[in-house]
Amino acid sequence: SRYVPNTSQSSLIVAVRVRPLLKSENGKSGKRDIMRVMDGKVVLVLDPDESKDYLDQVQNRTKEKRYTFDVAFGPTATNLDVYNGTIRDLVVGVLCGINTTVFAYGATGSGKTYTMVGGPGDPGLMILSLERIFSERQRLFGDEDFEVQCSYLEVYNEVIYDLLVRSSGPLELREDPDQGVQVAGLKRISVKSADEILGLLEEGNRRRKTESTDANSQSSRSHAVLEINVRRTPRNHYRVQQLCAKLALVDLAGSERAADTNNVGQKLRDGANINRSLLALANCINALGKQGESPGKGAAYVPYRNSKLTRLLKDGLSGNSRTAMITTVSSSSDQYHHSIGTLKYADRAKEI
Ligand code: ADP
Ligand code: MG
Repeated sequence: SRYVPNTSQSSLIVAVRVRPLLKSENGKSGKRDIMRVMDGKVVLVLDPDESKDYLDQVQNRTKEKRYTFDVAFGPTATNLDVYNGTIRDLVVGVLCGINTTVFAYGATGSGKTYTMVGGPGDPGLMILSLERIFSERQRLFGDEDFEVQCSYLEVYNEVIYDLLVRSSGPLELREDPDQGVQVAGLKRISVKSADEILGLLEEGNRRRKTESTDANSQSSRSHAVLEINVRRTPRNHYRVQQLCAKLALVDLAGSERAADTNNVGQKLRDGANINRSLLALANCINALGKQGESPGKGAAYVPYRNSKLTRLLKDGLSGNSRTAMITTVSSSSDQYHHSIGTLKYADRAKEI
């Protein structure tokens, strides 16, 4: 092939995006902007309590915290800025056969869906990635056979549903010896341009299961996974060799802990299962990182089987695949505890 991707790129990127205070939040009591982004990689969380006196300060009883990531985006960043600073180059790797997985991780209301799907006039990472897949394909491999297929599903309470069809029943995971992990009966659509997918994503998002909880009336308890499968057939005089790879873009369930909400019954089970998937994901990312640290020392055990989400994403996380985690936090002081929890999780992934 004429194009060789830059393989020196780290296999895990951890980014943080701070969303601005919304118009509806601004000026409300208890909602102050407490997030500062510095040097493009440092996130400073100010003490949410303004009433600290001098003694508190000198005795270091401040709740101010500071974290450093690969890259950090402040409240004025657009989705395009985030895209360019994180996954732009990974998308080209997908055309060269490298599986790639991108997560949006954060509390409900912190901007995961905005980042992944987008807002008015600000298309999200799902659309921007698809656009680039088509434009780079044209630029680099214009004469080759090329196919892009998309699927969009949710994992809710450890059950998989198709978001591209109306009232989908539960779908089963199958391990295919040739094709890896497959979701039986999942709809896949062939896509010829990025524009085609926006309406389908919005429709799919409206099908996602949400349930009001004490923590937030729009608490999203499902993980949504857009999978973009790319198949390229380079022309070669001697043989036909297909290059296949998938780009998975995952809008994770809200990261707020079940313990923070006054959950009962079904909701408690949801909460426990959300934690299970998110915890399993953290454990997998961690174990993968340990493999990277000491290659050749035998493969560390990666606990993919502990949740539906990690089973589903296994191929996109293992082997020579690449991962990006886009952590979203609100700048509002009333979200302090959620934001710290989110940043700690990302910090743990970053250790790798
Ligand atoms: P989540 O999916 O994490 O629950 P959303 O993406 O739905 O959160 O965002 C919550 C609200 O904040 C929405 O009204 C969304 O439009 C707005 N929002 C999120 N991120 C941004 C941003 N970067 N700039 C402007 N508004 C944002
Ligand atoms: Mg959302």
